[in-house]
Amino acid sequence: DSINICTSSKNYSVYIGNEIVHLLTKEVEGYSKIFIVTDKHLESLHLQKLTQHLPEIETHIYIAPNGEHAKTFSVFEDCITYALQNGFDRKSIVLAFGGGAIGDLAGFVAATYMRGIPFIQIPTTILAHDSAIGGKVAINHPLGKNMIGAFYQPELVLYDIQFLATLPSKERRSGFAEVIKHALISDPTFLQDLMVKVNSLDSIPVHDLQMFLRKGMEVKANIVRLDEKEQNIRAYLNFGHTLGHALESTAGYGNLTHGEAVMIGIVYALQLSIEVLQLQFPIKEFTTWLESLGYKWRIPADMDFESIFEWMVRDKKSVSNTPTFVLLQEIGKPVMQKVDKSLLQKTYHLLQA
Ligand code: NAD
Ligand code: ZN
Repeated sequence: DSINICTSSKNYSVYIGNEIVHLLTKEVEGYSKIFIVTDKHLESLHLQKLTQHLPEIETHIYIAPNGEHAKTFSVFEDCITYALQNGFDRKSIVLAFGGGAIGDLAGFVAATYMRGIPFIQIPTTILAHDSAIGGKVAINHPLGKNMIGAFYQPELVLYDIQFLATLPSKERRSGFAEVIKHALISDPTFLQDLMVKVNSLDSIPVHDLQMFLRKGMEVKANIVRLDEKEQNIRAYLNFGHTLGHALESTAGYGNLTHGEAVMIGIVYALQLSIEVLQLQFPIKEFTTWLESLGYKWRIPADMDFESIFEWMVRDKKSVSNTPTFVLLQEIGKPVMQKVDKSLLQKTYHLLQA
């Protein structure tokens, strides 16, 4: 099963399926060297399932710290040093084997090393159905998430969902928030399907999971196709992220996962949509469903509005100090909307625990 991603800078395929990692063999033939970037968890859980399918090409493996700790300046520098020491050149290929953090780090390394060398995304989390496509790659700055990055498309995305079996519940929840986001911004029947069929994130049948992830990827692909560099509609993918990023950064990387923070931001954006755009939406039914899946959708009590507001103002979408939100006119109909501080504050307190 595959999806084609067409952007002005490159066309490439996303393969999705169960136990398809062997497809990698022919994709890396012809490159001078292989540079695998992965993390400690993946090294112990799955790396061998990947390396056994590599042809006899000189291969080096860089093991980054787990999770968000991979996206720092010092890890980035270390990774580049390792590449230089091992003589990687422009005919070499980077394999990003891991979740969104590894994809972002390895993609940024590929984008910048010798002004750019090819890379392949081999995502291993639910969240990475989102992050692995679209070509946004980045590392963090202490003053903001993803503040140093590039638009850089992979040669290929190989999404073997067998790797998802070992994901802890917290990471499933994190990733599934983006699937729910993709449904909310694109299609009421997709959302309905999720709300009817998914009642536990630990036991989604493989067939359903693959279908939902594929649908989510299609939503993203359709948007990226029209707007690779986020001039306009690509910003819709940031639904839930204005508050989400602020919470994620304030909580300290790792305390709230990306998706946990985004889910709180999604509920916030839905409530704003109800107030600003008269969105018709059964938010109570929605949050009850979220709770049954283990989400905490309320804004944490210890996060005060003023400091979160500062973060939201620093968001890349802000215009002259007023945060701009992606809101919904209807399910599947996103719009960009500036929202006044007073309403932001009122809604914030309404949803705070
Ligand atoms: P992650 O990459 O931090 O991985 C989460 C944890 O799961 C890590 O500890 C990792 O080691 C572990 N893990 C990964 N795969 C596993 C597996 N198969 N089995 C068991 N454990 C596994 O988290 P993530 O949620 O995949 O990605 C989050 C990152 O993605 C954030 O940095 C976010 O900014 C970024 N992101 C980027 C984009 C984009 O367009 N580039 C979009 C959304 C999110
Ligand atoms: Zn996200």
